[in-house]
Amino acid sequence: MLVVMQHQATEEEVAQVVQAIEQMGLDAHPMPGPTRTAIGITGNSSSVDPRSLEVLPGVRELIRVTQPYKLASREMHPEDTIVEAGKARIGPGSFTVIAGPCSVESESNLLGVAEQLVSRGVHLLRAGAFKPRTSPYSFQGMEHEGLEILRRAREKTGIGIVTEVMDTEQVDAVAETADMVQIGTRNMQNFSLLKKVAGCGRPVLLKRGMSATLDEWLMAAEYLLAGGNKNVVLCERGVRTFTDHTRNTLDLSIVPPVKEKSHLPILIDPSHGTGRRSYVPAMSLAGLAAGADGLMVEVHPDPSTALSDGAQTLDFEEFDRLLDSLQSLANPLQRSIG
Ligand code: PEP
Ligand code: MN
Repeated sequence: MLVVMQHQATEEEVAQVVQAIEQMGLDAHPMPGPTRTAIGITGNSSSVDPRSLEVLPGVRELIRVTQPYKLASREMHPEDTIVEAGKARIGPGSFTVIAGPCSVESESNLLGVAEQLVSRGVHLLRAGAFKPRTSPYSFQGMEHEGLEILRRAREKTGIGIVTEVMDTEQVDAVAETADMVQIGTRNMQNFSLLKKVAGCGRPVLLKRGMSATLDEWLMAAEYLLAGGNKNVVLCERGVRTFTDHTRNTLDLSIVPPVKEKSHLPILIDPSHGTGRRSYVPAMSLAGLAAGADGLMVEVHPDPSTALSDGAQTLDFEEFDRLLDSLQSLANPLQRSIG
């Protein structure tokens, strides 16, 4: 349910509605808007009838929110959400580029990437310190030492840091380092992790589970929003299909439905989405054309020596060319790359 207040409703009237909702054992989410305040209601309302709120002073109407994800839905929150992370503003109007090596490999490697990105006006560096690897014999990441290197890269260059958290025990350390915390595809439905990350005080990049439906994805986002974290960015990274010409199938067709059903920004990840560096530029441009709010792409000074995901990683020159072609497409679309 959404309680829409009259545009002249006073703060006291809003507070009275919030109190009445809480007395019903439900949660109230006041959302001040340009013309009027709306108050979202979440919780299990099967035993109470929120329609009794209709008679309270200042209330204009009650709207039923039909989607199972309430706070993530556009019904509850018609305006697009803009998420600020570091110097980036992720949302309509811009096309945010997040880039970096798959893994933190060494201080000199990461610093080189950070400097390159800053020189091209990129505000967010993404690299994993904790790596979810299919094989236990593959490089597992530099873990806490990797976080330390990420912190130093930010100190030296001013770039914002995005890095993945895999486990509830890592949340505090990752949140201390990161400007934005990534939840990977394999953890999209790790509900304990979602609940813990909801309270970590950092924006969250929530990747789509590799076999998740749109509803399941938005319900995962709902865990973060219901836990009090309003700064959620979705990231489409490819799903499992029968095709074997790419690592995953980058489902760009999910961008318009996400935009229709939710107010949250959505990025695309053509690196994991294709698994091949030669396919990354075309799919990046396609993501921009499809209406995504940005891109997460793997970049490394020498992808042939990368400790993970080298085959899908661009070198600096390829990344430069990609930025130039994104810029040419962004201009007619009235979007700014940043
Ligand atoms: C990554 O971003 O490096 C990663 C492991 O991604 P995903 O969770 O999409 O596989
Ligand atoms: Mn990777």
